[in-house]
Amino acid sequence: MSTIETLVRESFLPFAQPDVDETEIAEVAAVIRSGWLTTGAAAARLESEFAAAVGAKHAVAVNSCTAAMHLALESIKLRAGEEVIVPTYTFAATAEVVRYFGARPVLVGVEPATLCIAPEKVEAAITPRTRAIIPVHIGGRCAEMDELLAIAARHNLCVIEDAAHAFPAKYKGRMVGSMSPFTCFSFYATKTLTTGEGGMICTESELFADRCRVMCLHGISRDAWKRYSSEGSWYYEIIAPGFKYNLTDIAAAMGLAQLRKADRMYRRRAQIAERYTAAFRELPELETPPDAPADGQHSWHLYMLRLNLDTLTIDRARFFEELRARKIGASVHFIPLHLHPYYRQTYGYKPEDFPIANREYRREISLPIYSKMTDDDVEDVINAVSDIVGRNRC
Ligand SMILES: *Cc1c(COP(=O)(O)O)cnc(C)c1O
Repeated sequence: MSTIETLVRESFLPFAQPDVDETEIAEVAAVIRSGWLTTGAAAARLESEFAAAVGAKHAVAVNSCTAAMHLALESIKLRAGEEVIVPTYTFAATAEVVRYFGARPVLVGVEPATLCIAPEKVEAAITPRTRAIIPVHIGGRCAEMDELLAIAARHNLCVIEDAAHAFPAKYKGRMVGSMSPFTCFSFYATKTLTTGEGGMICTESELFADRCRVMCLHGISRDAWKRYSSEGSWYYEIIAPGFKYNLTDIAAAMGLAQLRKADRMYRRRAQIAERYTAAFRELPELETPPDAPADGQHSWHLYMLRLNLDTLTIDRARFFEELRARKIGASVHFIPLHLHPYYRQTYGYKPEDFPIANREYRREISLPIYSKMTDDDVEDVINAVSDIVGRNRC
């Protein structure tokens, strides 16, 4: 076998990279030149264009997906001591927003194939204090929404989708963003559409949309000056202690440019996923991520490969280092919440509480998948992974 030097790339391939070019720069420059920098016409346009793209009735632009989920829970008046069901297999944000209210995130296990929240485990975790379920479409493959919406309807719970990975994803022919009371998207730098930092709340309810709009800007209502026309347009009323979660027009301008190429970016990621799966399906040491069913669409935000550890002489940590040695960036999604000190100390979670999540986490490794990757980049990843497997079989 050749030494690994023969296939090491010249430059490091980052795990993630935004697909930005002169179009984003031109849109942002136009906003800066206009003199209106904060929330204004560009944010309003991003809201209507994004709502149209995902089939949402209402969309409210905010400065992160975390803010979006916080505002969704605020809209349903979550209170201290109440409970919200959250998968353990997710990022910090999904559960921390529940803690903002002094409410309890109740962690629930996931399905081994998709790593999404397991509906039957949701049902078992419901108590009289439960108010909402926050499913996460991990990597961009949808959770079992029909089952979850049915459970929510039976128990009078709200569903708030953490769709940070799920633009543009589909479930049974429906776009993510059009299915439940709230869908929260992230425009963070590594996500499938980026504004640097940013997010969007999609909702079916005008009432919820209005509440999110008020609460994302200090709880200030501007309806007041409409009602009392004798007052000037300077008049406003504070109706609640709100937050400062609005999206700037600078960020929104970038989002508008991104939205115009979202379809091209998606198709390129899907193509890369297909190439990876064709190459890795043949290797018994690897388990490729399941695509969406025929009536769905995986957004391919992440390509979550899993290692069949009992067929390899190395663990995931070493696999990761071997990729680095071949100048390929990778990542791990996610360290389950129940393994983190805060959730262990606050709620007494133990590692053995979620054996499936633990097992899958130990063998997961996410490969680069973004539209700026060239065909050569994709082949470099395939060659590196295949080489590591070949050198470390049992
Ligand atoms: C990135 C991410 C978030 C948070 O998004 P922000 O826009 O950074 O607040 C929430 N949930 C998941 C699953 C994520 O990956």
